Amino acid sequence: MTTDTIAEHQPFQAEVAELLHLMVHSVYSETDIFLRELISNGSDALDKLRYEAIAAPDLTADGEPPRIRIAPDKNAGTLTVIDNGIGMDRQELIDNLGTIARSGTKSFLSRLTEAKDGAGLIGQFGVGFYSAFMVADRITVTSRRAGRPEVWTWSSSGGNGFDIAPATEEDGQRIGRGTEIVLHLKPEAKKYLESHEIERIVSAYSDNIQFAIELKPEDGEPRQINSASALWQRPKSELKPEDYKQAYRSIGGAFDDPAMTLHYRAEGRQSYAVLLFSPSTKPFDLFEPTRKGHVKLYVRRVFIADDADLLPGYLRFIRGVIDSEDLPLNLSREMLQNNPQLVQIRKAVTGRVIGEFESLSEKDPENFGKIWDAFGPVIKEGIWEDFERREKLLALSRFTTTSGEKRSLKQYVESLKPNQTEIYYLVGDSIERLKSNPKLESAIARGIEVLLLTDPVDAFWTSAQLDFGGKPLKSLSQGDVDFGLIPLIDDNADNADKDKKPVADEATTIAVIKDALGDKVSDVRASQRLTTSASCLVAGGAGRDRQLERLLAMENRGAVTKPILEINMRHPLVAAIAERKDAARDLSLLLLEQAQILDGELPEDPAAFANRLNQLVLRGLSKENG
Ligand code: ADP
Repeated sequence: MTTDTIAEHQPFQAEVAELLHLMVHSVYSETDIFLRELISNGSDALDKLRYEAIAAPDLTADGEPPRIRIAPDKNAGTLTVIDNGIGMDRQELIDNLGTIARSGTKSFLSRLTEAKDGAGLIGQFGVGFYSAFMVADRITVTSRRAGRPEVWTWSSSGGNGFDIAPATEEDGQRIGRGTEIVLHLKPEAKKYLESHEIERIVSAYSDNIQFAIELKPEDGEPRQINSASALWQRPKSELKPEDYKQAYRSIGGAFDDPAMTLHYRAEGRQSYAVLLFSPSTKPFDLFEPTRKGHVKLYVRRVFIADDADLLPGYLRFIRGVIDSEDLPLNLSREMLQNNPQLVQIRKAVTGRVIGEFESLSEKDPENFGKIWDAFGPVIKEGIWEDFERREKLLALSRFTTTSGEKRSLKQYVESLKPNQTEIYYLVGDSIERLKSNPKLESAIARGIEVLLLTDPVDAFWTSAQLDFGGKPLKSLSQGDVDFGLIPLIDDNADNADKDKKPVADEATTIAVIKDALGDKVSDVRASQRLTTSASCLVAGGAGRDRQLERLLAMENRGAVTKPILEINMRHPLVAAIAERKDAARDLSLLLLEQAQILDGELPEDPAAFANRLNQLVLRGLSKENG
C-alpha cells in the first residue's frame, strides 16, 4: 500500500500546536468569529474554483451554483459548514491544516508570548481555521479537490496532532467537490446550533460574501441568509456607513473600524470599481518582508488574485477590491506584473488614495492622525521611492517636533523664525534621546523648531536632499549650520550670561585637540550648534547623515566615515585645554567620548574611557582638598 491510501496520524507543526493550545483554552469571549473565518475560507475556495474553471471548464460542468451551507444538528451537537469550492487533496489537507504558512500568524504568536492578555489579541487578528477550536472539541474535515476522484478526511481534537484517512464510501458520495467541516461543539458553545444565532453572525460579519450562504435547519429546506452581492458594484447612494464597516471586516478580513473608505467607479478608457479601506490599527506583520498587499483583483466579479501589486509598497496597509470590466478573465498570474492596463489602474488608484488622504487630513484630522500614527512609517517610504509623488507625500507627513506636537511641514514653514531659511531636523532612535541631544541647544536658544525623526525610514528619505515650500531640509547633525542671523530668545536664562563666559583661544585649542585625536576624527571645529554642552559629533556636509551611515553599517552596506568633532568655545572644559598642557590629551579624548555617548554610541574603548574619567575626577578632587 502507498501512503496515498492508508490512514495516518501526524503531529502538528510546533507553531500550530502552540496556536491550538491557545484556541482550546481560550478565554476570549467573542468566539463568534470562528464562523466568519470558516465562511471566509469557503468563499476563498469558491473564488479559486471559479478562477481555475476559466482554464478548465470541466471543473464546474455539473452546473451546481457556488454556495456555502451551514447545517446545525442539535441531536448530534454538531455544526457543519460545507462549500462546493476548490476542495483539498490529501497533501493540501496536511499542509494547510497542519502547518502555518502565513507570516502574520508567526508574528502574532511571538506577540502573544510577550503579551499577558493573549485573549484580547485573538480578536485583533484573524486566526483562520484554527479559531474553530475555540468552540469545538473535535473537528473533522472531509474534502474533494475539484476534478479528482479521491476524498480524504482530516480530523483532530486539537491537542495531539491529526488523523488523515480516506473518506468513507458514504462521505465520498455525498461530497461532489469542495469541503465539509464538522464541528463537534463544546457544551458551552451549543448556542451556535440556534438558527437565529447563525443568522445574527452571518449578517454581522459575512453579509458581504459574494456567494450565497445558506442555512439548512434540521427540519427544513436550505434558505439563503446573506445578500450575496458584490457591495463595491452597488451605488454609493444605497450604502450606509454600517454597510461599509461590515464590508471592510469581511473583505479586508479585519477586526477594527476603517479609518478611511474610498468607493468609486472609474469610467473612460478603462472601467473599474474600487472599494478600498485604510485600517485604523497596525497589523502584526506590517514590516515583514514577505507581507503582500491586501487589495484583491477581480475581473467582472471573478476573483483573480490577491497579490497583483495593485498599489505601491508604501500603501501595503490598504485593503479592499478593484474590479475591472475590461481585463481578460484568463489573465495568468505571471502576466499580471506587466499588464499595461493594470499599470494604468495602479497609477490612477494610487493617485486617488493619496488625494483621499489629503482631503481627510483637512476635513477629519483626527482620523487622518490615526492613519498616520499607525502607517506613517510606511507611507514615508514613498517619499524615498515614489519620485513623482514626493511633494504630496511630504505634505501629508506629520512630524513630532521640538514644539511637542505633531506638525505638518506646512505648519512648520508658517512659523519660521525671522531670517530662518531652512527646515531643521535631527534623526535618531527615540524622541527622548533626541530631545537631550546637544545639537539642539543653539536651535532651542533661538526658539527654532526642529523635526525629531525616529522611524528607521527617516534616515533614508532625508538623504534625498529635499525641500518643502522652497525651504531646504537640513540635518542638525550634518555639515555647517549658521544661526548667526536668527536672534536668541531674550528671556532665556542660559542666554543672559552667555556673553560673560570666557572664550577659549580658538586656534590653539583646536590645534591641541587635533593633535590629541589624530585620525579618530576628520576635523575639529568651533560649533554654532552648542550652548551648554562641550562637544558634539557631526557628519561632513556632503555624503550621508550619521544615523543613516550607522544603519547601513549595521547591515554591512557601507562604512561609517570619520565624523567632525565640534566644540563649544565657551565651555570651561574647552577653555582649560589650551592652558593645561598636562591634561590636554585626556580632556580632548573625553570631549570625543562624551559626544559619542550623547549620540547613543559607545566610546571606542569603554574601559579606557572610564579610567580617564576617574583620573580627571581624582585630579580635580585632590586639587580641591589641597
Ligand atoms: P488562511 O485562510 O488565512 O490562509 P486558514 O488557517 O484559515 O488560513 O486556512 C489555511 C489554508 O487552508 C487556506 O489558505 C486554504 O488553502 C486552506 N483551506 C481552509 N479552508 C478551506 C476550504 N473550505 N476549502 C479549501 N481550502 C481551504
